[in-house]
Amino acid sequence: MIKKDIIINMTRRCNYNCSYCNVIKDNSVFSKQNIEDIVNFLKFNSQYINTVKFFGWEPILVFDDIKHIIENTKDEIWNKFVIVTNAKILNDEIWEYFSKYFETIFFSIDTENDFNYEKVINFINQFSLNHKLYFNIVINPWEENNSLEQFTILKEYWINKYNILPVYYTKEWNKKNLLALSENIKNILNFNLDYYWFQQNEGYVSSLINESFFIDTDSKIYYSDIVSTYLWNPYKRHLFIWDIAESNLNDFINLDFWKYKKIIKVLENFVYNKSEWQKELHEIMDYFSVYLNNNWNDF
Ligand code: SF4
Repeated sequence: MIKKDIIINMTRRCNYNCSYCNVIKDNSVFSKQNIEDIVNFLKFNSQYINTVKFFGWEPILVFDDIKHIIENTKDEIWNKFVIVTNAKILNDEIWEYFSKYFETIFFSIDTENDFNYEKVINFINQFSLNHKLYFNIVINPWEENNSLEQFTILKEYWINKYNILPVYYTKEWNKKNLLALSENIKNILNFNLDYYWFQQNEGYVSSLINESFFIDTDSKIYYSDIVSTYLWNPYKRHLFIWDIAESNLNDFINLDFWKYKKIIKVLENFVYNKSEWQKELHEIMDYFSVYLNNNWNDF
């Protein structure tokens, strides 16, 4: 049976304002009716759902909506909830909720903002959380060196589950900063080889295109979260699947996944033409990610 990951873009608001931000930001959130539609969608389609990821530029900003969805779907979707957060407004109450309901938590370390490692580590220790925790080190085109710095801090805290994520789909990459990025990633790789035992993982196969069902704040479902970036947004309608209020179980069975895969391939070339160094960035990351990204093994 085909099972899909669902990504819910809870809000396009963010509590940061990074200069390298490549996603469309505004104040949009789901209406009360949209939230009920999402609940119904998840309940109705639960047998086809692999994970439900609460996403957004900062999903904790609408934590009450997240709670409402979980409270009303947890019987069907138990142990499949995932969240991505920059942790800025994390507090005891929210962390307790995380501990109770989330199977996986991704912390985003956005290099322009101070990530409060101590606070997050305290939370982790406090609840001795036995879930999957990952740290995404976001690398922007002007601060490639910062990734090594963040990586070293993670190692000091004995955190070994991390992803290296350059900001994709921005026009800011060029030959010079791509070379610097390669150098940095090589250093991280060498650091790993020198000081830690090392396991090759399966690589970051779709490093750029996440083929999930992405529910955007317009309450429509798209084939990938890439539609939320400026560069892909003009092609959004091509990756539209359903309106959240109208989708039903049979849609899953009848969906032509190959059609969307082909559309993505075609659109990718349009995007490469608009952003000269994008393809090179992808090639660098695909090469290094075989060693670095998404290491799901326990250390
Ligand atoms: S890059 Fe991420 S953390 Fe920074 S402003 Fe954009 S959405 Fe927010």
